[in-house]
Amino acid sequence: MDLQAAENRVSQLHQLLNQYNYEYYVLDKPSVSDAEYDQLLKELANLEEQFPQLKTVDSPTQRVGGEALSMFAKVEHRSPMLSLANAFNESDLRDFDRRVQQTVGENYSYICELKIDGLAVSLHYENGLFIQGATRGDGAVGEDISANLKTIRSIPLRLKDPITLEVRGEAFMPKKSFEALNQKKEENGEEPFANPRNAAAGSLRQLDPKIAASRNLDIFLYALAGIENSQITSHSEGLSYLETLGLKVNQERRKCANIEAVLDFINEWTNKRPTLPYEIDGIVIKVDSLEQQKLLGTTAKSPRWAIAYKFPAEEVVTTLKEIELSVGRTGVVTPTAILEPVRVAGTTVQRASLHNEDLIREKDIRIGDQVVVIKAGDIIPEVLKVLVENRSGEEQEFHMPDHCPECASELVRLDGEVALRCINPKCPAQIREGLIHFVSRDAMNIEGLGEKVVSQLFQAELIQDVADIYHLNYDQLIGLERMGEKSVTNLLKAIEASKENSLDKLLFGLGVRHVGAKAAKTLAIQFETMDALAAASKEQLTNINEIGEKMADSIVTFFEQEEAQELLTELKTAGVNMEYRGPKPISPEENDSIFSGKTIVLTGKLEQLTRNEAKERIEALGGNVSESVSKKTHLVIAGEDAGSKLAKAQQFGIEVWTEEKLLEELKRLEV
Ligand code: NAD
Repeated sequence: MDLQAAENRVSQLHQLLNQYNYEYYVLDKPSVSDAEYDQLLKELANLEEQFPQLKTVDSPTQRVGGEALSMFAKVEHRSPMLSLANAFNESDLRDFDRRVQQTVGENYSYICELKIDGLAVSLHYENGLFIQGATRGDGAVGEDISANLKTIRSIPLRLKDPITLEVRGEAFMPKKSFEALNQKKEENGEEPFANPRNAAAGSLRQLDPKIAASRNLDIFLYALAGIENSQITSHSEGLSYLETLGLKVNQERRKCANIEAVLDFINEWTNKRPTLPYEIDGIVIKVDSLEQQKLLGTTAKSPRWAIAYKFPAEEVVTTLKEIELSVGRTGVVTPTAILEPVRVAGTTVQRASLHNEDLIREKDIRIGDQVVVIKAGDIIPEVLKVLVENRSGEEQEFHMPDHCPECASELVRLDGEVALRCINPKCPAQIREGLIHFVSRDAMNIEGLGEKVVSQLFQAELIQDVADIYHLNYDQLIGLERMGEKSVTNLLKAIEASKENSLDKLLFGLGVRHVGAKAAKTLAIQFETMDALAAASKEQLTNINEIGEKMADSIVTFFEQEEAQELLTELKTAGVNMEYRGPKPISPEENDSIFSGKTIVLTGKLEQLTRNEAKERIEALGGNVSESVSKKTHLVIAGEDAGSKLAKAQQFGIEVWTEEKLLEELKRLEV
């Protein structure tokens, strides 16, 4: 691959991974499996290794987790809450062991712990009293979820010693609570949680602590993060100490003298895993000595003294009864396997997407086959393979149709795509799916307008486009199936309330191709009004960090369409808000950033930024970049091999920053 191709792919991977991170960490609603995510991340890491110039500080390989939701107060972590490097097989573990040995020598041991599938939290105790609990967030800043954490009974509100310390651990939902919760959700016609991790995260990131309280969450503490004057010299001593304070620590941990013992522990738990009352997704292996941990240090994303071995997904055999076709919002026709219902990783699975015909051919999937099903990353059901040896000869091959199963227009394969698409803009399936998307949680979030109600309204021709939703009235709704007086009143209220949504929600809801929830937010912040966005040129759009060519094209094309313009006018007339209503970005004039009004000099070789880039970004934050150092200079940014300018700065006592520090500040200040 040449540099240009690598650059394109890297930018594509940034966009994808940022989107997936956002869905996973911020929305608690992943759209791809962990395996797929991990593979993309690995591809990016490989490219960065091959082309180091493409590695940036904001690369997903350098970042931990998501971002703190603004509805919670933010908590700055005293030391970063990191992620863990992953191992998927024995060879990854042996490599890790080799690296450890190279740094610390022959004399070391490991502690193996179960990797609890929940979410990382940090707890602060002051003089023995619980004062604050937070999520990991982006590793540097998390969310204050103290009220929710207090509902977890195994978190003591007072420790046995009046000590001040920070501990970290994993809050989780036991299997029983998870199954009961999902059963209740299914009974109420709500979407069940994909796995206990999402359920725990979803429960703890609620404003109303009653919800968390009703979910029977639990916790295991696994790290002593901050304590004064401690005599503790190893991780295992730290854990025992936490126990003496009354904190809950997992008993299934073991000190292992070498990597062979670690492998034994892993084998043992691969078998015993189903007997646990909570889900684990792997084993965490940590160097025991704190001194050796220090020696090994950390990368930006994870400690070098620990690694997480991830279990392969659970495999279950069932029968593929049928292949059903569905037409999505963008016209893509997707074949879905209808399975004999089977339990996989905590939920009943009866459907699995087969994505496209190529995949069906590749795996040679036939109707009536016995298939192995996994929930990739414990989330998304997937047909892994066919048990060809179990075939009776009755199985039938499947072929995609030439025509749309909903509107009968001819299907096409667009350039370079494997998917078949219906390109009839009037296709009822696409319109219906578009409506369902518009009212969904991350878009206009109209409660009471679920898939079933939308389909009914659509079939009854009460709504044909999203603007029609705002003309619905009591008399039209009361006649519908399962629509009593109360539900109609509530629904009308929810529709009315949705008019006040911020521009980003509306924009995402409109379903402009390639514009996901995160991009919609970026665009809304940047342009502030729908009119300004509609008037934006492709160049203006691609100037924004996260907006690539493809997305920019699709935005411009969308606003050029007459139908789109008419729709927006109708929505406006109906009183739907067209402005961004969230935290405003700081304009250079009003910003009180460190750079604002200051004279700054760049010197030496910068590694991650070009001079021009650094200049532009500082100026965007109100700073003046000057060529020479004088007594009036406020700040000098010194890269590698900085010479006389740096010396002069030191002579005048001017503050000097590294490029690292500059990037940190830029990242903090830029929106
Ligand atoms: P991780 O889950 O791979 O490992 C780190 C976490 O393990 C810690 O933060 C902690 O919360 C937890 N943990 C549990 N038991 C522990 C113990 N005994 N000791 C120490 N830590 C323990 O890392 P992550 O950063 O939370 O998540 C990254 C993973 O999430 C990726 O590898 C990917 O599989 C998944 N992911 C998926 C998507 C998606 O869209 N599907 C998106 C982002 C991330």
